[in-house]
Amino acid sequence: MPNHTHHTHHSQPAPFVATCPDCEIERSSESATELVAFYRRHHGHTGHDIVVTRADLEFGAALDAADGVAAVVDGLDARYGVDKHDSTESGTAGVPIGIVVAAMSERGFTVGETLEEIADVRMTGALYEPRDDHLAAF
Ligand SMILES: [Zn+2]
Repeated sequence: MPNHTHHTHHSQPAPFVATCPDCEIERSSESATELVAFYRRHHGHTGHDIVVTRADLEFGAALDAADGVAAVVDGLDARYGVDKHDSTESGTAGVPIGIVVAAMSERGFTVGETLEEIADVRMTGALYEPRDDHLAAF
Protein backbone atom coordinates (compact mmCIF):
# COMPACT_ATOMS: atom_id res chain seq x y z
CA MET A 1 0.00 0.00 0.00
CA PRO A 2 2.74 2.47 -0.83
CA ASN A 3 0.42 5.28 -1.83
CA HIS A 4 3.24 7.75 -1.97
CA THR A 5 5.57 6.01 -4.36
CA HIS A 6 5.91 7.62 -7.73
CA HIS A 7 7.54 4.70 -9.46
CA THR A 8 4.70 4.01 -11.81
CA HIS A 9 4.07 1.00 -13.94
CA HIS A 10 3.44 2.44 -17.31
CA SER A 11 1.69 -0.63 -18.57
CA GLN A 12 -1.07 -0.16 -16.00
CA PRO A 13 -3.84 2.41 -16.21
CA ALA A 14 -3.67 5.29 -13.78
CA PRO A 15 -5.76 4.66 -10.68
CA PHE A 16 -7.41 8.06 -10.85
CA VAL A 17 -9.03 9.68 -13.87
CA ALA A 18 -11.09 12.84 -14.03
CA THR A 19 -12.75 14.62 -16.91
CA CYS A 20 -14.41 17.91 -17.75
CA PRO A 21 -17.71 17.07 -19.44
CA ASP A 22 -17.81 20.50 -21.08
CA CYS A 23 -14.36 20.38 -22.69
CA GLU A 24 -14.03 16.61 -22.91
CA ILE A 25 -10.49 16.85 -21.63
CA GLU A 26 -9.27 14.14 -19.33
CA ARG A 27 -6.58 13.94 -16.70
CA SER A 28 -5.24 10.73 -15.28
CA SER A 29 -2.96 10.52 -12.31
CA GLU A 30 -1.37 8.25 -9.77
CA SER A 31 -2.57 10.67 -7.13
CA ALA A 32 -6.13 11.63 -6.26
CA THR A 33 -4.76 14.90 -4.93
CA GLU A 34 -3.68 15.80 -8.45
CA LEU A 35 -7.30 15.55 -9.58
CA VAL A 36 -8.24 18.22 -7.06
CA ALA A 37 -5.40 20.40 -8.36
CA PHE A 38 -6.71 19.79 -11.87
CA TYR A 39 -10.18 20.88 -10.74
CA ARG A 40 -8.87 24.01 -9.05
CA ARG A 41 -6.89 25.07 -12.12
CA HIS A 42 -9.62 24.24 -14.60
CA HIS A 43 -12.45 25.68 -12.51
CA GLY A 44 -10.37 28.80 -11.95
CA HIS A 45 -9.95 29.30 -15.69
CA THR A 46 -13.30 28.19 -17.01
CA GLY A 47 -15.79 27.82 -14.16
CA HIS A 48 -16.34 24.23 -15.27
CA ASP A 49 -16.88 21.36 -12.87
CA ILE A 50 -14.85 18.15 -12.99
CA VAL A 51 -16.12 14.59 -12.72
CA VAL A 52 -14.02 11.73 -11.39
CA THR A 53 -14.53 8.86 -13.82
CA ARG A 54 -12.14 6.35 -12.29
CA ALA A 55 -11.04 5.98 -8.70
CA ASP A 56 -9.18 2.90 -7.63
CA LEU A 57 -9.94 3.16 -3.95
CA GLU A 58 -8.65 0.48 -1.68
CA PHE A 59 -11.27 1.16 0.96
CA GLY A 60 -14.10 2.64 -1.04
CA ALA A 61 -16.16 -0.52 -1.11
CA ALA A 62 -16.08 -0.77 2.66
CA LEU A 63 -17.96 2.48 3.07
CA ASP A 64 -21.70 2.85 3.36
CA ALA A 65 -23.12 4.19 0.13
CA ALA A 66 -25.53 6.41 2.03
CA ASP A 67 -22.80 8.15 4.03
CA GLY A 68 -22.41 11.90 3.82
CA VAL A 69 -19.04 13.51 3.49
CA ALA A 70 -18.34 13.65 7.24
CA ALA A 71 -19.08 9.94 7.63
CA VAL A 72 -16.98 9.16 4.56
CA VAL A 73 -14.02 11.04 6.03
CA ASP A 74 -14.52 9.30 9.34
CA GLY A 75 -14.69 5.88 7.68
CA LEU A 76 -11.63 6.53 5.51
CA ASP A 77 -9.66 7.98 8.41
CA ALA A 78 -10.19 4.84 10.46
CA ARG A 79 -8.61 2.83 7.65
CA TYR A 80 -6.01 5.25 6.37
CA GLY A 81 -4.86 6.40 9.77
CA VAL A 82 -4.17 2.96 11.24
CA ASP A 83 -1.98 1.66 8.44
CA LYS A 84 0.28 4.66 8.18
CA HIS A 85 3.51 3.06 9.32
CA ASP A 86 5.54 5.91 7.94
CA SER A 87 3.71 8.52 9.94
CA THR A 88 5.67 9.95 12.83
CA GLU A 89 2.82 12.13 13.99
CA SER A 90 0.61 11.14 16.82
CA GLY A 91 -3.09 11.14 16.23
CA THR A 92 -4.66 11.27 12.82
CA ALA A 93 -2.85 12.68 9.84
CA GLY A 94 -6.15 13.03 8.10
CA VAL A 95 -7.44 11.72 4.81
CA PRO A 96 -6.08 13.32 1.62
CA ILE A 97 -8.81 15.53 0.23
CA GLY A 98 -8.41 13.85 -3.17
CA ILE A 99 -9.33 10.50 -1.64
CA VAL A 100 -12.47 12.05 -0.15
CA VAL A 101 -13.33 13.52 -3.55
CA ALA A 102 -12.80 10.12 -5.18
CA ALA A 103 -14.95 8.35 -2.58
CA MET A 104 -17.73 10.90 -2.98
CA SER A 105 -17.58 10.55 -6.76
CA GLU A 106 -18.83 7.00 -6.27
CA ARG A 107 -21.90 8.59 -4.67
CA GLY A 108 -22.51 10.76 -7.72
CA PHE A 109 -20.82 13.94 -6.51
CA THR A 110 -18.65 16.00 -8.85
CA VAL A 111 -15.37 17.39 -7.57
CA GLY A 112 -16.93 20.83 -7.18
CA GLU A 113 -19.94 19.46 -5.30
CA THR A 114 -17.73 17.50 -2.93
CA LEU A 115 -15.56 20.53 -2.16
CA GLU A 116 -18.72 22.52 -1.48
CA GLU A 117 -20.00 19.80 0.84
CA ILE A 118 -16.66 19.77 2.65
CA ALA A 119 -16.78 23.54 3.05
CA ASP A 120 -20.35 23.34 4.39
CA VAL A 121 -19.56 20.58 6.86
CA ARG A 122 -16.41 22.35 8.04
CA MET A 123 -18.62 25.32 8.95
CA THR A 124 -20.58 23.06 11.26
CA GLY A 125 -17.34 21.94 12.90
CA ALA A 126 -17.75 18.25 12.07
CA LEU A 127 -14.63 18.24 9.88
CA TYR A 128 -11.23 19.85 10.32
CA GLU A 129 -7.97 20.04 8.45
CA PRO A 130 -5.10 18.53 10.47
CA ARG A 131 -2.77 19.65 7.69
CA ASP A 132 -3.11 21.16 4.24
CA ASP A 133 -5.50 19.30 1.95
CA HIS A 134 -6.17 16.59 4.51
CA LEU A 135 -9.44 16.13 6.36
CA ALA A 136 -10.42 14.51 9.61
CA ALA A 137 -13.78 14.14 11.32
CA PHE A 138 -14.44 15.06 14.94
ZN1 LIG B 1 -13.89 22.45 -19.08
